[in-house]
Amino acid sequence: MANTNDKLQELKGILAEVTDLNRAALLLEWDQETYMPRGGVQSRAEQLSTLLRLSHVRFTSDQVGRLIGELEEDLSGRPFDSDDASLVRVSRRDYDQSVKLSPDLVAEIAGAGSTARPVWEEARKEENFSLFAPYLEKNVELNRKVADALGFEDRPYDALLGRNEPGMTTAELEGIFAELKQAIVPLVADIARHADAVDDKVLHRGFDPDLQISYALEVVKRLGYDMERGRQDISTHPFESSFGPGDVRITTRVSRDFFNECFFGLVHEAGHAMYNQGIARAIDRTPLWDGASPGVHESQSRLWENLVGRGLPFWRHFYPSLRAVFPEPLRGIEAEAFYRAVNRAYPSLIRVEADEVTYNMHILIRFELENELLEGALKVKDLPEAWNTRFKSYLGIDVPNDREGVLQDIHWSYVSFGIFPGYTIGNLVGAQLMEKVRADIRDLDAQIEQGQFSALLGWLRRNVHQHGRKFTPNELLERATGRPLTAGPWISYVQQKYSALYGLHAARR
Ligand code: ZN
Repeated sequence: MANTNDKLQELKGILAEVTDLNRAALLLEWDQETYMPRGGVQSRAEQLSTLLRLSHVRFTSDQVGRLIGELEEDLSGRPFDSDDASLVRVSRRDYDQSVKLSPDLVAEIAGAGSTARPVWEEARKEENFSLFAPYLEKNVELNRKVADALGFEDRPYDALLGRNEPGMTTAELEGIFAELKQAIVPLVADIARHADAVDDKVLHRGFDPDLQISYALEVVKRLGYDMERGRQDISTHPFESSFGPGDVRITTRVSRDFFNECFFGLVHEAGHAMYNQGIARAIDRTPLWDGASPGVHESQSRLWENLVGRGLPFWRHFYPSLRAVFPEPLRGIEAEAFYRAVNRAYPSLIRVEADEVTYNMHILIRFELENELLEGALKVKDLPEAWNTRFKSYLGIDVPNDREGVLQDIHWSYVSFGIFPGYTIGNLVGAQLMEKVRADIRDLDAQIEQGQFSALLGWLRRNVHQHGRKFTPNELLERATGRPLTAGPWISYVQQKYSALYGLHAARR
């Protein structure tokens, strides 16, 4: 009988190979989004499917199952947060989920996604939901099958949510969204009545694209993104991709006519990248080497993008150098006016273009509808009407067509229920962490105004980044802030910031 150390080494050896296969697949995906010629599509799909199949087979082998089982007993006395106990605990969670989904179901899901995607594109172009409806019905059914296969106690959505945000429940999120709705719906209406208070025309005055990229890169380096272990390229949809502690890349896109896209996009992706650059090297080449969850990952990008990058102290520091780079478009605009412009909020139809205040309402609508579809309370054919009714009620706007309504996101063209809430969780986690950062670093704003970000980054490194996937989102939050996920810090942040920006009546808060 092998001793514990031998078993650990054996398990780690396999997990290192699985990690390498997954990272090689990620690198191929990165290339696909950046440099691959269009003719590469077919070969690339084959290569990816081979690598991911090898990784899946290696990870779900009986050998891995046996090693995890034996090590769970052997390591039961180790501290919860030790590297080895965490490795076995998280591997168990991943392993159980991987073996519960049969290869047949996984293949059916992949097939349904690739069949539905072109139909979704066509339906969106034609503004004709009924073309897409039968395919969405199939996807809803497959989401149900996934939930059944993974198992759940209370609500089918719990199983899908738990895959992405371990430990979170549908009921917990419903409570949080109810709080958000109560605070945000009146705030959105209030802002709409004072829409004239903020003018963002300056952002559309025309900014040289190359200068935008070089300026934004200088800024993210100052925030703490290590370019010795990173690089930046152009892609249609910006993203961050990590192949190990020494290679964490970001992409961007740039528009001459809208300043926010490149600058805040790059700060956002650099927030993701700094997270991965800060994960402890001791857990490299294991399943622990990643963010705690997509939601927690999003908290890091939003924190740098919004809570830091859309703050007044940030622009007091950077605005003079920005104006030196772009004297023409910024003529006659002072730092505070620029700060106001980049924070303009207004109810809009499209989620990915939504501002900080209204964004979570877009997610709430999708969360409610996914639940109702999954539980059979809503029929696919009635979805557009349900969508439009909620947009009117939560954001006060009429949806003119399904292209700008229910057909706007790619997500429902594949089997993906349970992903959307991560975006809102990211906003809330970011604000909750920031509240604690401010309690621990009393002069944070003064530091930011002087262009000093190392104390903030150090706090995030210690409390969030280094742990990788050791903890679930709520475990991480309890350790870092003393309590599980709560909407309070985010609500007071937006209420204060936007009441000041729009000169709203204090009584309305
Ligand atoms: Zn992101």
